[in-house]
Amino acid sequence: MSLPTVTQNLKDLSEMGLITNAGTFESTGGRKAQVLTCVNDVKMAIGLDITRNHIGIVAIDLAGDILATQRIRFPFGSNDEYYRNVGSFIDAFVERNRFDSAKIIGVGIAVPALISEDESMVVYGAILQNTGETCSRFSRYIAYPCILCHDSEVAGFAEFWVANDVKNVFYISLGNSIGGAVFFDNMKYLGDTRCSGEIGHMIIVPEGKKCYCGQKGCFDTYCAATVLADTAKGSLEDFFLLLEQGEKKAVEIWNVYLDHLSLAIHNTIMLFDCTVILGGYVGMYMEKYNEVLQEKVEAQNPFKMNRSVIKICQYKTEAIAAGAALRHIERFIKAI
Ligand SMILES: [Zn+2]
Repeated sequence: MSLPTVTQNLKDLSEMGLITNAGTFESTGGRKAQVLTCVNDVKMAIGLDITRNHIGIVAIDLAGDILATQRIRFPFGSNDEYYRNVGSFIDAFVERNRFDSAKIIGVGIAVPALISEDESMVVYGAILQNTGETCSRFSRYIAYPCILCHDSEVAGFAEFWVANDVKNVFYISLGNSIGGAVFFDNMKYLGDTRCSGEIGHMIIVPEGKKCYCGQKGCFDTYCAATVLADTAKGSLEDFFLLLEQGEKKAVEIWNVYLDHLSLAIHNTIMLFDCTVILGGYVGMYMEKYNEVLQEKVEAQNPFKMNRSVIKICQYKTEAIAAGAALRHIERFIKAI
């Protein structure tokens, strides 16, 4: 790029308020060089994480940093009252945090469902029973441009956005259902029918436990967060407390869980030779157990690579909503 082009581009970015002068470097002879820095709060985006019983909301700036977050019980309903309440919830969130609505690029609505290529419709929504749901209906009471997103795909996108030194990634969301997202050579891979990354329905035990998808032995039935939480009266937090206390039953359940998880990760690595990022509700607890999981995965590897292939999520609970918001940020940056 020629110097006049660079100068013009910087002038344009400055006029758009996207960069600003932050002083000068020490002189190495001649005129001091100017320090230009990005203005991350000139625009922002909002993301929603829609689940069966809750809604999470996150606001992020252009750097992907979280400005505010909230999560409340908010049972899903495919009806006008629910859509109106979602609109009011967003307005109250914006007002309470004193955000300038003129800065908001848009709202990403993440649902546990497969989404059409133009991000306007749910094409498979078994979990919320919302197949056929459209973005225009969902966003009827939302005052900003909206897109629908597949929850695990955008959670993976958020984790990929903040991860360093990775270019090939398989993201696994260990939530109440299991999802995934695939990134190769720094690009998202969606597959022929946007079904890539559906590792939750990879069969790891032939004729095993019945899955909600209708098949048997899916990874989801062995490693969804509910598998652990259901053994502690529905509380994942309590399960991990028992595990830390060395409670015998919890330790047994955890060892079986890790066996299944390591098998799925091993299969993934054999296929893609990539980094695996673990997220979702269980992912939040995995830092402490990653070493033993790595050992189990490595023990299955015929090539004995001895390299660290598993990373733990950074966004924690906000990954889905942050990822949905990041889709708007990504579009905005690409359009500059
Ligand atoms: Zn299944």
